[in-house]
Amino acid sequence: MSAAGRFAPSPSGDLHVGNLRTAALAWLAARATHRRFLVRVEDLDAQRSRADVAARQLDDLRAIGLTWDAEPVLQSSRHAAYAAALAVLRDGGDTYECYCTRREIREAQSAPHAGAGRYPGTCRTLSAADGAALRAAGRRPALRLRGADVGHRWDDLVLGPCRGVVDDVVLARADGSVSYNLAVVVDDLWQGVDQIVRGDDLAEQTATQLHLAGLLGGGTAADAVEYGHVPLVVSTAGSRLAKRDGAVTLADLAAAGVPVADVVRRILASCGRAVPEGARTLDAAVAGFDVSALPRAPWVFVPPVGC
Ligand code: GLU
Repeated sequence: MSAAGRFAPSPSGDLHVGNLRTAALAWLAARATHRRFLVRVEDLDAQRSRADVAARQLDDLRAIGLTWDAEPVLQSSRHAAYAAALAVLRDGGDTYECYCTRREIREAQSAPHAGAGRYPGTCRTLSAADGAALRAAGRRPALRLRGADVGHRWDDLVLGPCRGVVDDVVLARADGSVSYNLAVVVDDLWQGVDQIVRGDDLAEQTATQLHLAGLLGGGTAADAVEYGHVPLVVSTAGSRLAKRDGAVTLADLAAAGVPVADVVRRILASCGRAVPEGARTLDAAVAGFDVSALPRAPWVFVPPVGC
């Protein structure tokens, strides 16, 4: 399959200018390197995902100038593929059952020497007898990745040389639902995605996802993927941009008198030397786009006056 980049929003809320900027950068990076571009609807969380939001997200992406080369795939239609991947990992000895409650994990994480934010490994060496006793007491296990504390390095298109440790992330929850980390890797492999440009809040997941890609797709599949983690967009208060920051979606901005073309110009202007001078549309910015020249600092989005 030919090379591809992608944008994979979760349809839990309308896209704001920060999300749109990340989507634009993923699209520009793919098109500038002659890749296909795909959009994937990450709607695994049935409680928070909404079909009308997904449709609006696609409309907004089209409105800023994104194009894609295949019908967007919905993760909610891919359960058989995730079950097959789980079976491969389980059969390969790369998973273990975890009976911990959230509270137990929190407590273990606060112990000295626990890796910050990572699963402390409590159930990694649980015996079959202990597992059976917990089941008998009514506990149902989640399935975790046996990460074995290995590290992964990658040369990030934006951040430069990076290194991360593989976490024993949950692959399937006790209720059987599969996790973001499993689904994202299964789908990127299946769709032939070999360039992932996304928000830098996901950089800490990359080592785990590279490890999973190696297990599911072979070492070469993992090595073939290039990552670029772009700085998030923040409000004038310095926090990650959110709905509460005023006019931040295309609809809000249009209502405040800012047309889509102006939003695109502001996004392009925020990209510094990454974007060729004078480009006013995404199409015009493809030739000469260089994601590695993106400013490393977050973009501070100042909503239009009066919002
Ligand atoms: N669906 C994820 C999100 O909206 C992004 C997944 C990814 O780009 O790897 O945060």
